[in-house]
Amino acid sequence: MNKTRLPDYLKTKLPSLDNIRFKNVKNILIKNNLNTVCDGARCPNKCECYSSGTATFLILGKTCTRNCAFCNISQKTPLGVDENEPKNVANCVNELGIKYCVITSVTRDDLKNNHDFGSIQFKNTINEVRYLCPDTKIEVLVPDFKGDKIALDRVIDLKPEVFNHNIETIKRLYPIARQMADYECSLNVLKYAKDKGLIVKSGFMLGLGENLDEIYDLILDLNKAGIDILTVGQYIQPSKKHLEVKKYYKQEEYLQIEEFIKKNTDIFPVVAPLARSSYKAFEAWENVKLHS
Ligand code: SF4
Repeated sequence: MNKTRLPDYLKTKLPSLDNIRFKNVKNILIKNNLNTVCDGARCPNKCECYSSGTATFLILGKTCTRNCAFCNISQKTPLGVDENEPKNVANCVNELGIKYCVITSVTRDDLKNNHDFGSIQFKNTINEVRYLCPDTKIEVLVPDFKGDKIALDRVIDLKPEVFNHNIETIKRLYPIARQMADYECSLNVLKYAKDKGLIVKSGFMLGLGENLDEIYDLILDLNKAGIDILTVGQYIQPSKKHLEVKKYYKQEEYLQIEEFIKKNTDIFPVVAPLARSSYKAFEAWENVKLHS
């Protein structure tokens, strides 16, 4: 297989213009002045998620203070915090009738006052969604908040149904792929949330240059941190400026990784070429909840 060419199984359909549900989600997002990670990260599941009436809300703007080499979110000076955003997210969840809402953000290392790092906007958004839509379940996909426990507690104390933080890749590749992040810090964030009794989730990408032993070590590290759900999917290069794909994994390799997780850990695996952190999020939460 040509490693630089996108295999057919990773090609997804573009939404058709007559897809009413898709257009409706898009219009409601625009009306409420909201960003979704579905657009920012050029997620391959956008069509499927929008069409089924779900979206992952990207709060705190669409520019990030970090520079992960795989990420399509733009890396410029971030704008101020939009005070209306928490209410707008809640309105949108309400209008779309979302029963399982995923809230994520860019990393805001610039918000240093009051141990914030973006946690205050997460707190306000969770509270607004709960106020307007008390039956909606909430998953947060948070940055590391620089490991600041006051910032983490602000979110953890609200007990979202799922606390998600992506480890993204193996330890060896951090200096290349996540220059401004720290592998141990991410593991500690996950463990901290788990020790506080939450359902904890993480995810990583395949295809950045890792080998199978390194993948297994990563899974075992995540298991030690106590995570409950793990998403594993193929990295797709967003543009020529981003890290290149070192390998497209075959279906049998996904099965092998899934098998390893099932045999060696209690983690619920979501392992598939197009698996992203919000992919089948409701099903994964439901499954873990049922067995806990
Ligand atoms: S911290 Fe997150 S949003 Fe920012 S560049 Fe890295 S992956 Fe992208």
